[in-house]
Amino acid sequence: MKKILLGLLTVLAFWASAETIRIEPARRECVIVLPAEANFCLTYAAKELSYHLEKMTGVKVETITEPTPVPAGAFVFSLGETAVASAAGLTSAGLAYNHARLHGDQNQLLLVGNDSGKRIADLLVQSCGTLFAVYDLLEFENGCRWLWPGELGECIPRQAAFQFEAGRREIEPKLKFFFWRQLWGVRHQWPTPTSYEEFMNAEIAWLLRHRSNRDLSEQHYPHAFEGWAAKYLKTHPEFFNLLPDGTRRSSPLYWGGQDKYISMCTGSPAFRRQVVLDWLENYNPDIPRINLKSNDTSLQCTCDYCMADDQSPIPTEVRRARAAERYQKGDARWYEELGSMTRRQIAFYQGVQQLADQIAPEKHAKFSGLIYANSSDAPEGAELGSRFQFSFCPPMYFPWTRAKIDLYKQRWEGWCKTGADLVIRPNFTLDGHCYPIAYAREVHECYTFAEPRSLKGSDFDSLTGMYAAQGLTLYTIARLQSSPNGLPFEEIVREYCSAFGAAAPEVRSYFERLAEISRGASAALESGRPEGGSWTLYYLAGHELFTPQRFAELDAILARAKAAVPVDSIEGRRVEFLRVGLENARLTAEAAAAYDRFQKSSDYIDFAQAVGALDGFRADHAHWLAFNIGYCVERENNSWPRGLAMQMTKDTVALPIDWPFRTDPEKQGEAQKWAAPDFDDSDWKKIPTDRPWEQSGYADYDGYGWYRLRVALPAKLPGEPVLLIGSADEACDVWINGEKVLHRPYPYQGNENSWNESFEVPFGKAARPGQENVIAIRVEDNVGLGGLTKRCFLKYVPLRSEAENLIRNADFSEGLAHWELVQRNGRSQAEAVQFDGRRAVTFRAVSPDPERRAFNKYANYAMLAQKFPGLEKGRRYVVTVEFRTSADFDGIMMVFCHSDVQRSRQSAANIQMDHNGKMLQWGTISKEFTAGMESGDLWLNYACNRGQLYFSRVSVTPVKDHESH
Ligand SMILES: [Zn+2]
Repeated sequence: MKKILLGLLTVLAFWASAETIRIEPARRECVIVLPAEANFCLTYAAKELSYHLEKMTGVKVETITEPTPVPAGAFVFSLGETAVASAAGLTSAGLAYNHARLHGDQNQLLLVGNDSGKRIADLLVQSCGTLFAVYDLLEFENGCRWLWPGELGECIPRQAAFQFEAGRREIEPKLKFFFWRQLWGVRHQWPTPTSYEEFMNAEIAWLLRHRSNRDLSEQHYPHAFEGWAAKYLKTHPEFFNLLPDGTRRSSPLYWGGQDKYISMCTGSPAFRRQVVLDWLENYNPDIPRINLKSNDTSLQCTCDYCMADDQSPIPTEVRRARAAERYQKGDARWYEELGSMTRRQIAFYQGVQQLADQIAPEKHAKFSGLIYANSSDAPEGAELGSRFQFSFCPPMYFPWTRAKIDLYKQRWEGWCKTGADLVIRPNFTLDGHCYPIAYAREVHECYTFAEPRSLKGSDFDSLTGMYAAQGLTLYTIARLQSSPNGLPFEEIVREYCSAFGAAAPEVRSYFERLAEISRGASAALESGRPEGGSWTLYYLAGHELFTPQRFAELDAILARAKAAVPVDSIEGRRVEFLRVGLENARLTAEAAAAYDRFQKSSDYIDFAQAVGALDGFRADHAHWLAFNIGYCVERENNSWPRGLAMQMTKDTVALPIDWPFRTDPEKQGEAQKWAAPDFDDSDWKKIPTDRPWEQSGYADYDGYGWYRLRVALPAKLPGEPVLLIGSADEACDVWINGEKVLHRPYPYQGNENSWNESFEVPFGKAARPGQENVIAIRVEDNVGLGGLTKRCFLKYVPLRSEAENLIRNADFSEGLAHWELVQRNGRSQAEAVQFDGRRAVTFRAVSPDPERRAFNKYANYAMLAQKFPGLEKGRRYVVTVEFRTSADFDGIMMVFCHSDVQRSRQSAANIQMDHNGKMLQWGTISKEFTAGMESGDLWLNYACNRGQLYFSRVSVTPVKDHESH
């Protein structure tokens, strides 16, 4: 007690003696000084300091670079090793990673840090001492908060003075590293490349403000043994797990037995020795730890060594027999019978440590390990010490329950008692897709429990960026990474909500309600879905929790919040930000519900419309930075046939899912006329056309497979009939009424993804209106899964009489007459050609401009424009365009049709259609609009770095309601 009191007194004495300096830029000239050779970290720190000072005080503080002299009497903010700093005896010598030294008095604030980096992305992986010291001063001494990326999320207090404690001290980060994995791989799913760049850059800035940074020497240890099978499996099988079937190989029950996932024989002394020898041989002082992070399938060996390491009270032979029984049944979790994965893991760690100390005592090795869900039980009584650093991956997913939290704490405590340093490395931030799930209080409880118990770093997988819908949770996680230990949850909530001014009480009750709904989520939302959690497919399930009633209730709370503050105030815009996040979730839920109905019935129209509404909303609201559109779309594309929906017109009919099917291993179907209309297929088995035939009882079949379908066409066709095939994996041939209309080899025209793409097959002259028509499709599959894998549709392309078409020279038979070529980036040539059976216009790059890229990406961007009269205001029209690309095309096709008085945004009268990437045969896209004026503008856009784009048969015609429907 006495000791604690004494400590307290010392702290009090320090605070009493420390002087708070208040600098008012409005009353005294201030200047930021950089050394002559400032690196990127320093210039970025100067930019951030200047930005915040101006927002805070309203005064712009200039930055000068030495040897420019400091104006007499000015207050100096010096960043880095300036002459001013060295005059005060401040250097960076001996500073640890991300550390900085501070010296401050009435006339100067000097910061010298361990700094490096050449561009902004470097700052996430290189030492940022000075920059982080600046953020420390802004956050802890001036009350700056960064709630979410972008300016709207910045809470910078308006105050006359910037303040700090005088004196000299070292500033060190709370954690060795805080890493929140950004999702970089989703560029193409954003509405435009610019919107993607804007979002990701704002996210980097926000992460840096929360001191996100990886010290690679501490953190950069991926799975250690992924390359070992290639290197050692032949020469040293004893390094690898002994499976219950007596083989040593990657378990065929996990991801098909890929070598990189192989489990090691962690009990084997030879393996342990090799780990140490490999580390010595490839010793890298920048990444000095011995990496013991096991592959995905860890600790699955049944050899005598490993079974002994378990120290199980159950006899080895009994455990082996039980494991073998489950293994033979194909149970991927057979290893649960072996015993405590924790004990064999500890034995491995201790064994390697002993060997390392024997073989290379001078290195005093340190170790990096993973604690996976299957081995995360608290170890009893094991002592490891702080030479070990473990990344703890809790088996924790949404919904969070009391039982999960308690288990988490119990296990964390158990690992803490080993004396090892611990890193929190969860996957739970992947949860929830864009839905407003909330677990801020729960994550706070787990995190603050870990803080005083050996928490040394964090590594979150991943940052999905749903900053509005999951705002409070994401902010809580970010805020905890640099805050003093034990920051109360209530304080985080208060600072978040206070940013909404008079709307704070409503915003607080909004997040409280979200937390309640989240706690009430049933376990059904997670069961039966991958990884024990639901994150990969949550977009298909979220609407079960967030029902229309709940959205209405949440909307009402935000409406009250909105009413409490002026619409155009910053608080009003922050409430709107939350509403944009909620609306995105609501539209996602609607699309998911429509997808459910689409799966069960043949009604695709409301699904296509729901996805259209969702995509339109996201494109219009991308600049809010409220959600990561690319991530949403990428996940959704795993199940939602967006591309297919794009190719559907108003007159599209879903064909039945189940079609008569027959394999053709002898390749005799064509000779035996299986495609003929009168061929008897009554004994063919019906299988679904929306999944590979492997899932319909033809598990190992490769080769030819035939599908047949009888479909009636109306006597009066609403348009030209076209078969839309969701995808045929890999190649296919199509017959209509016995007439071969398509031969589509794989890869189709050099396109290796053609097995997964949707395409159109016009009936052409083979169509028999008013009769039954027979479609026969022969699919050829030679590798992996095969068959018709997404649904087929019958589509009617609008009949277009040239008399009604408002577009002149619509098929380019008169060259480019009536069309105007507009160059946007680089120079492109547009030329009327006869190509692939059509009259068309093609774009081709003449001189690209790589310096000034359109959409941040394309060196070529041009368009053909035509203004057309003859619209009747309020009447509906349909724009239809046929297009295709060359095989090397890497850009985007866009069609804009505007007839709105308001030119800029999309509306019922201003529509846009687009297509990303290759389209190696003619495809039709069409969309309706309601004329807003008596004339319209049509633009055919071409943007790419490589390749050609072709347009053909462009039309704008009035929509007719067909009596035949
Ligand atoms: Zn073993």
